[in-house]
Amino acid sequence: MLTMSDFQTISTDHAGYMRDESRRTGHAETISFPTSESALAANLKKAASAGNKVTLQGALTGITAGAVPFGGHIINLARMDRILNLKRSTDGLYTMTVQPGVLLADLNKRLQDFKFCTNGWDDESVAALKSLQSDKPHFFAPDPTEASASIGGMVACNASGARSFLYGPTRTHILRIRGVLADGSVFELYRGREKSNGRSLDITTIDGRKITGLIPSYRMPGVKNASGYFATEDMDIIDILIGSEGTLCAFSEIDLKLLPCPQWMAGILAYFPDEDSAVKFVEQTRLLTPKPAAIEFFDSGSLNLLRRNAANPVLEDIPIPAKGIDSAVYVELHSNNEREFDEAIEKTAELIAQTGGDADSAIMATDHREIEKLKKFRHAVPEMANMTIGERKKTIPDITKLGTDFAVPASALTSMLRAYHAAMAKSGHEYVIFGHIGDSHVHVNILPRNKAEFDSGKMQILEWAKQVVHLGGTVSAEHGVGKIKVALLKAMYGEKGISEMKALKKSFDPDFSINPGNLFEL
Ligand SMILES: Cc1cc2nc3c(=O)[nH]c(=O)nc-3n(C[C@H](O)[C@H](O)[C@H](O)COP(=O)(O)OP(=O)(O)OC[C@H]3O[C@@H](n4cnc5c(N)ncnc54)[C@H](O)[C@@H]3O)c2cc1C
Repeated sequence: MLTMSDFQTISTDHAGYMRDESRRTGHAETISFPTSESALAANLKKAASAGNKVTLQGALTGITAGAVPFGGHIINLARMDRILNLKRSTDGLYTMTVQPGVLLADLNKRLQDFKFCTNGWDDESVAALKSLQSDKPHFFAPDPTEASASIGGMVACNASGARSFLYGPTRTHILRIRGVLADGSVFELYRGREKSNGRSLDITTIDGRKITGLIPSYRMPGVKNASGYFATEDMDIIDILIGSEGTLCAFSEIDLKLLPCPQWMAGILAYFPDEDSAVKFVEQTRLLTPKPAAIEFFDSGSLNLLRRNAANPVLEDIPIPAKGIDSAVYVELHSNNEREFDEAIEKTAELIAQTGGDADSAIMATDHREIEKLKKFRHAVPEMANMTIGERKKTIPDITKLGTDFAVPASALTSMLRAYHAAMAKSGHEYVIFGHIGDSHVHVNILPRNKAEFDSGKMQILEWAKQVVHLGGTVSAEHGVGKIKVALLKAMYGEKGISEMKALKKSFDPDFSINPGNLFEL
């Protein structure tokens, strides 16, 4: 009898596995859905020994085609979705071991409701769960806007999101990874335990295979970054896996750090008559105490996109700003100190007024459900952009949305925003700018109306990438490079950086079997 772990020949039933949220489509010959590490190892080995390339998939919410297959076998990890244990250290830190297919939304919902399947948990885990139930509520902090992402996909992309302004990207919350190599060997890396010696790394798999290699010599930019392999001297080797986009191994187990939920939370959506006022507000808000959890931006194009789609049921419940409002900024405040929290809210209102906004029209939410509504506002912009392109693709299949993921040093934010608008005004492209402005990391989404606009938009993004790199920024701050930003990564680290990355991949995956085409061309 065929099990989910067995290889299935691709049929029309598998169409959903040929694409991700980049809307690129690929092709493959076979697919499997392992449910255990041993089945995953066996499938990797089987594919490699038949000379087949393998594409790893999580929840397929990625937007750089990293999980889109181009031939060979797909290993979809969605069925490896068990929470394996929970631990509480003597200093009160809770950590959880999960399989890679656990979904972010599901994990946080379980933490909220204490609904865990404890079959197979050891006594220590059951005791830790009891302790957690009588403790403060806890959560897993990284929050890519798309909560249906899997933990494996988030680790592979070092995903981050609005709240990363305070909590940092996924990397900061990962303590151990167990990985499976293309030949089926298993290894594990702990944060703080396996370190590189300068740029040299040397690890041994559980069955005794040696992996030796050199960490690339490029200097990573001093901004939020998810471009290429993490590389510094004397580093935690686990950090090479985080953000490696599935090019080195498949993750089979991940240990996560849980954090206590903040006692007080507020979401504030403030409106501004022009973009300069909004940016001034952002510059002041970054300095607030406590540091905001999120500072998000929406330009006039984003607000117009919402207005145009106001009748869409997806936007039900979402506050659509009135005409005449040019830009909006969403600030989220988290605190465990009531007085400090109240003062931060008051200060935010003052800053809105001082920087030219209208404090009276700002929307503030302090209860969880109302904050979720404001977060839906944030999610609605990329969702509407994707929908617009989805519609256009029906008649012009060759186009996709063209999205940037650049972050620049704070000192370069205003000049880069001006460069984006100036180029778009000149070319006449339809576009929106939104995102994580606290980290000087906004997304420009170009929405091409025809193939010519798609081609010129792509060229424009490469031009901006060069400018961003020159200013000390990154070509991808959170989405990763996947298959569609390969040229941008080359613009960032040059031929030398790319060949050092390839050499590192070869140490882990000598035949370049896993996720070919991600990060660099072969
Ligand atoms: C509307 C929308 C908004 C988004 N906003 C954000 C945002 O704010 N921030 C952000 O960071 N991202 C964002 N994303 C992108 C996406 O949600 C993240 O990249 C997410 O981390 C992908 O997770 P996934 O499980 O869907 O991975 P997939 O798309 O399935 O795969 C992504 C990559 O991870 C690799 N991979 C998956 N599982 C494993 C594994 N077990 N072992 C090794 N490699 C693996 C795949 O091969 C692929 O290269 C957004 C997406 C959408 C659709």
